[in-house]
Amino acid sequence: MTTALERIRTAKRELGQDVVILAHHYQRKEVVEQGDFVGDSYQLAKYAAASNARRIVFCGVHFMAEAARILARPEQRVFMPDPRAGCPMADMADARDSVVALTRLREMAGEKRRIIPVTYVNSNADVKAVVGHAGGLVCTSANAPKALQWAASKGDLLFFLPDEFLGTNTANGLGYLPVARWNPHEADGGLTTDKVRAARVIVWQGYCHVHTYFTPAMVAAARLKYPGCSVVVHPECKPDVVAVADGLGSTSYLVDAVEKTAPGQTVVVGTEVNLVLRLANQYPDRKVVPLEYSLCPNMYRTTPEKLADLLENFDPAREITVPEDVVAGARLALQRMLDL
Ligand code: SF4
Repeated sequence: MTTALERIRTAKRELGQDVVILAHHYQRKEVVEQGDFVGDSYQLAKYAAASNARRIVFCGVHFMAEAARILARPEQRVFMPDPRAGCPMADMADARDSVVALTRLREMAGEKRRIIPVTYVNSNADVKAVVGHAGGLVCTSANAPKALQWAASKGDLLFFLPDEFLGTNTANGLGYLPVARWNPHEADGGLTTDKVRAARVIVWQGYCHVHTYFTPAMVAAARLKYPGCSVVVHPECKPDVVAVADGLGSTSYLVDAVEKTAPGQTVVVGTEVNLVLRLANQYPDRKVVPLEYSLCPNMYRTTPEKLADLLENFDPAREITVPEDVVAGARLALQRMLDL
């Protein structure tokens, strides 16, 4: 029987330059191995924007494929092997609530303050459009400090969504304090006018369950088990975990940290487990261990079988589209990030 990997290889041979497969670092190993380009969301967004292929196959989650669609040329088409692969954190903010929050924050902050919104790339396209139209930009975990600095050069109150922890960790690192938290389920976000006026950054109360799973106790346990190890974590982790880690950074930073670990040494990595296990395989001369097994079930939805099915028939039901009225604002916000 022909295996999924053989079917993928045959389809890729036949399709040639017509198709490019982009794979996020958190995809399962067998899918990553089929990628023409493997990267974090920032690298993949840049690659999609520069690609000449007529069909872009995105092995990741929905907001990433949407970003590729927004940045691609009109004649290009973007597909996902499983378009149901979403991101719970992205779904924690919608366009309507974002507009309500921005409007209310402007009223509460008073005329003298200028609010600039920044949305993590892990947000839906309509939220990116709201941010683009409000003069803000998109960021990834790799360029969040730069994006916040850009926003601070345009206004004096920053509104970061939808990840409370990337926003807080980045603001802490830059000394943009105090940080206040906007709870979208409470009137006025649960904030008073005084709190809004005192804040430098306001963060939307959203989170990634894969990264908030990690705790300081897990870091302490890893240090006991692997004396002398270094612990590096992703900025979607909670600040109490960041406080006890040795290093903090985006997916590319974590890949780099493993590369730089000397043979024989141990590095403990606090991020999605598929990436950590793949790095452990890639560097057998050093010990690369996950802080804990925390897997993104949505990233895991993409299988070699679904990729093979897509490459064989490009089922229109797997094509990613973005409504015309959303594209312009979202592109504005994404382009500001790419121009950083
Ligand atoms: S790892 Fe977290 S932020 Fe990334 S896609 Fe999964 S749920 Fe969303």
